[in-house]
Amino acid sequence: MSPPSLIDAHPNLTDAAPVALSYELFPPRSAAAAETLWTTIRELETTAPDYVSVTYGASGSNRDTAVELIHRLLLETTLRPIAHLTCVGNTPQELAGIIGELLDIGARGILALRGDQPKDGGQPAEGSLRYAQDLIELIRRVEQRRSALLCAGKIAVGVAAYPTRHPESPSEEHDIEVLLAKQRSGADFAITQVFFDAEQYVSLLTRARRAGVTIPIIPGVMPLTSLRRVTRLGELAGVEPSPDLLERLAAADNDIERLRIGVRATVDLANAALDAGAPGIHLYTFNEHQSALEVLDKLALPRHQRAASRHSVAARPQLAS
Ligand code: FAD
Repeated sequence: MSPPSLIDAHPNLTDAAPVALSYELFPPRSAAAAETLWTTIRELETTAPDYVSVTYGASGSNRDTAVELIHRLLLETTLRPIAHLTCVGNTPQELAGIIGELLDIGARGILALRGDQPKDGGQPAEGSLRYAQDLIELIRRVEQRRSALLCAGKIAVGVAAYPTRHPESPSEEHDIEVLLAKQRSGADFAITQVFFDAEQYVSLLTRARRAGVTIPIIPGVMPLTSLRRVTRLGELAGVEPSPDLLERLAAADNDIERLRIGVRATVDLANAALDAGAPGIHLYTFNEHQSALEVLDKLALPRHQRAASRHSVAARPQLAS
């Protein structure tokens, strides 16, 4: 019988993994939006997140601005960007080109997504990939071809997961089968769609683990601080917040009150997800830093210090809890 491994003999080595922190940003649509975004980026940078993710328009509608933003983040900040990439409407050849371009500028993380189907109900272009799973397999093939170039860091591939049924899916069970298939095709981690009831995340985690999904499933949480954002969320993700939260936001007298309500609800949600074993928190920022920073201040995440300096945050007046 072989002796126990040194790692098994020291179980504390693998205990208490630090909680990951990340933010979602989207590429700016105008010069003014770019200026606001860069203020946000500089503010978020002070919190030393583990990565930031950069969204991508379905069919590559904003390909150049997305790639340019990732390039600038790599060159001009200490942030580590991961690139969202959608496959709907694109052929494997086109996508292999984009993946190569992302790797060439230094990106080492890709969130592999299908993207939303065209709104006009038209069929995706012939020969285009159908599912996120196909994109994962393509990314792994490109990676294999470049393995010698990637000695200093392979590609981390993430995928989407759904605490409530994906609108096109027949059932939540089917969603779990799809998540398991994405893991088998090479996904390393998952980030969830927005949700507003912690039980939905807990249920996803339980069902996924029971089915054999072992990758980290990171809850994506969105500070809802305005009714305008709620409408946008319904349009984008088909997710409705709780009527109670909506009522409280609608009854608030001013923006500061709405910010306080949205931040409190997000902190409670994130804490409940962490209590259920969430390995990190991914904050949907809408390219605004104030609510994200308020949430972070109140969360008190057990995080490692990665050159974090919160000078600009400390100077800001804090919300009462
Ligand atoms: P898939 O996993 O391919 O699933 C799509 C549908 O097909 C589901 O109904 C699923 O059940 C079904 N399905 C999947 N595989 C199979 C199979 N093998 N057989 C049968 N049915 C199958 N959209 C953007 O356009 N840009 C972004 O940057 C972006 N970022 C996102 C980030 C996160 C964290 C999340 C959660 C979503 C994001 N989206 C983004 C939205 C996403 O593109 C949509 O939710 C899209 O409708 C589904 O994408 P998916 O990757 O989950 O697709």
